[in-house]
Amino acid sequence: MANSVKSIKASEMDPKFKYEIAKMHGGEKVMRCFQCGTCTSDCPIARFSDTYRPRQIIRMTQLGLKDRVLNSDTLWLCASCFTCTDRCPQDVEVASVIRVLRNLAAERGCMPQVFKEEAASILESGYAYRIPELRLKKRETVGLPPLPRGNAESIRKSLCGVKLLESVEKKA
Ligand code: SF4
Ligand code: SF4
Repeated sequence: MANSVKSIKASEMDPKFKYEIAKMHGGEKVMRCFQCGTCTSDCPIARFSDTYRPRQIIRMTQLGLKDRVLNSDTLWLCASCFTCTDRCPQDVEVASVIRVLRNLAAERGCMPQVFKEEAASILESGYAYRIPELRLKKRETVGLPPLPRGNAESIRKSLCGVKLLESVEKKA
């Protein structure tokens, strides 16, 4: 999803895609976007990235460029700050559309490795970050109490309904 213009082939366009997104919670108003660019100009990530453009993500969704948008790594750059949603003159819930797209991308295994590892760690230990053994020992040596144990089993139970485990294990 770089800024460079990449030609679009008719065969890439799935006309049903926008309706699929519009049926999902948060995606309902995706068709209202008239490409004013406010979301991109106010997005804190777009300010520092040459490739991340929420306006483009919305347009690609409207055009049905399903594979392009779901396979794109830039989809995962969104910080979910909701600035775009607050400022869209058409009430498009841009941040929620991006969440919906990420969920679909994750279902097909298209998730950056770093997020897969984070999710795997949560499922395994209850923590997003695996704390190295060395650091745990260091706590002991300086007299700090052991860290509380994460309740991985309860997290796994809660998340089994959203198929996170399958998404993490799935290869893109
Ligand atoms: S601010 Fe809203 S209408 Fe404007 S480009 Fe973004 S999503 Fe579309
Ligand atoms: S929610 Fe995502 S797309 Fe919207 S302004 Fe924040 S970082 Fe940008």
